[in-house]
Amino acid sequence: MSEYVSSFMSHVKAKNQGEPEFHQAVQEVVESLSIVLDRYPEYRSSKILERMVEPERVITFRVPWLDDQGEIHINRGFRIEMNSAIGPYKGGLRFHPSVNVGILKFLAFEQVFKNSLTTLPMGGGKGGSDFDPKGKSDNEVMRFCQSFMTELYRHIGADTDVPAGDIGVGGREIGYLFGQYKRLKNEFTGVLTGKGLNWGGSLIRPEATGYGSVYFAAEMLATRNQTLEGKVCLVSGSGNVAQYTVEKINQFGGKAVTLSDSNGYIYDEEGIDAKKLAFVMELKNVRRGRIKEYVDKYPKAVFTPLDTKLVHNPLWDHKAQCAFPSATQNEINAKDAETLVKNGVYVVAEGANMPTTLDGVKHFLDAKILYGPAKAANAGGVATSGLEMAQNSMRLPWTREEVDQRLHMIMKSIHKTCRDVSERFGTPGNYVNGANIGGFLKVADAMMDQGLV
Ligand code: NDP
Repeated sequence: MSEYVSSFMSHVKAKNQGEPEFHQAVQEVVESLSIVLDRYPEYRSSKILERMVEPERVITFRVPWLDDQGEIHINRGFRIEMNSAIGPYKGGLRFHPSVNVGILKFLAFEQVFKNSLTTLPMGGGKGGSDFDPKGKSDNEVMRFCQSFMTELYRHIGADTDVPAGDIGVGGREIGYLFGQYKRLKNEFTGVLTGKGLNWGGSLIRPEATGYGSVYFAAEMLATRNQTLEGKVCLVSGSGNVAQYTVEKINQFGGKAVTLSDSNGYIYDEEGIDAKKLAFVMELKNVRRGRIKEYVDKYPKAVFTPLDTKLVHNPLWDHKAQCAFPSATQNEINAKDAETLVKNGVYVVAEGANMPTTLDGVKHFLDAKILYGPAKAANAGGVATSGLEMAQNSMRLPWTREEVDQRLHMIMKSIHKTCRDVSERFGTPGNYVNGANIGGFLKVADAMMDQGLV
C-alpha cells in the first residue's frame, strides 16, 4: 500500500469507526486513484477525494409499525445522500436485518462512481432499513413501507433524490412506498424507480441489472474473440439480479448451474433452463419460498445447506468458466477466488455490490482473468432507472426493444470506458482501475467546476 493510500485510509478509518464495508469500498477506489492524483495534483489540492468520502447528508429516522397481532415494532430508517455533483441523488433502498450506516455508506459511495459510468446525469445515494421483510405478511410490509415513507418523503423528490429497489425491496415494496409518497405530497412524479408498468415504470427495469451484467461479461469475452455460447456459469443469489442473469445466460447459449439463498445453494449439472427458471421465479417472487425447494421439484439437482463453520463458500467450487456473484457483499473471499481460478473460471461479472473481498480482487487481478467489478458490471440496473426517469419526465413510455437496446449500448459504453481508461493510466485490462478512474473523473471535474460546496 503506498504512503498516500495508507495515510488516507487511516484518516477514513479514524473518522468512520466500526464501518468495515465502507473502509473496504474506499480503499479499493483510493488504490486505483493514487495514479490519477499524481498526474493531476489539482484534485489533491482541492481535496476532492476527502470531500467524496464525506456524505453530503446522512438522514436517520425512527420507523414504528404495527404487526398483524397489533404488536408495536420499531426499526431504523436511513438515507445517505452521498454526492450530487452530476445529478440528483440516485440509488436503491435495502431492507435487511444487517443494514447499518456503514453498509449503506459503502453502497452510496460505490453508487457515485457507478452512476457516473452510466453516462446519465445521476448523483449517488443509498438508503434502507434493518427491517426484515422475510416472513412478514403483505399487510405488515405495507404498514412498514407507509411508516418509512412518512419520514423519507420530506427528503426526496424527482429532482432531489430518487430511490429504487435493492435487497428486500422489489416491485411490491416500491408500490407501497410510491402510494404513500403520492398521498402525502399529492403529486404523481418519478420520485421512485422500479415502478409498476401501468403507473410509470419502465419495461426492462426488473431485468436490467442481471441482463446488464451478462452483457458486460459478453463484452469482456469479445476482447478474447469468445462468446458465452456453451460456457458453464456459477450464479449466486436467487433474487432479482440472479434470476435475470440466468435468463440472459440462457439466451446467450450459456448454462447456469447454481443458485443460492441465505440457507444454502443448489447445483444442477444439467443447467437451469427457462422452464426451471420460471419455477424459481414463482417460488421466489410469488410464494416467497426457499431455494432448497428446487430439489423437490428437480431431484437430480443437489442442495447444500449453508455451513457457517466453513471459511469458504462451496458454491464457487465447481468446474465452470464464468461466475456471476449476485447475492450480497463479500460472498467471495481470497480462498473462494483461488478456488474459482483453479477450477477454470476466467470471467467474473459482479451482479451484487462488492461481492469480492479486497484479497479476492487482488487474486483475480494477479491471475489476469476477465474481472468485471460491480460498479461497472451491475450498472445496468441504475442505468435503466435513469431511462425510467427520462420517460417519466417526457411522460412517454418506450418499447421493450428500445429500452433493451439502450441498456445494451450503455453496457458497451461502460465496458469501453473501463478498457480505454485502464489503458490510458498504464494498467491495460484492469477493469477495477478503469471503473474507479472513469467514474471518478467526471464527478471530480463537476465538483471542481461547482466550487467548494
Ligand atoms: P433480492 O432481495 O431480490 O435478492 C437477494 C438474494 O441474495 C436472495 O437470494 C437472498 O437470499 C440473497 N442474500 C441476501 N443477503 C444475503 C446474505 N447475507 N447471505 C446470503 N444470501 C443473501 O436482491 P437483489 O437481487 O436486488 O440484489 C442482489 C445484489 O445485487 C445486492 O448486492 C444488490 O445490492 C445488488 N444490486 C441490485 C440491483 C437491483 O437492481 N436490484 C442493482 C445493482 C446491484 P435470502 O432471500 O435468503 O435473503
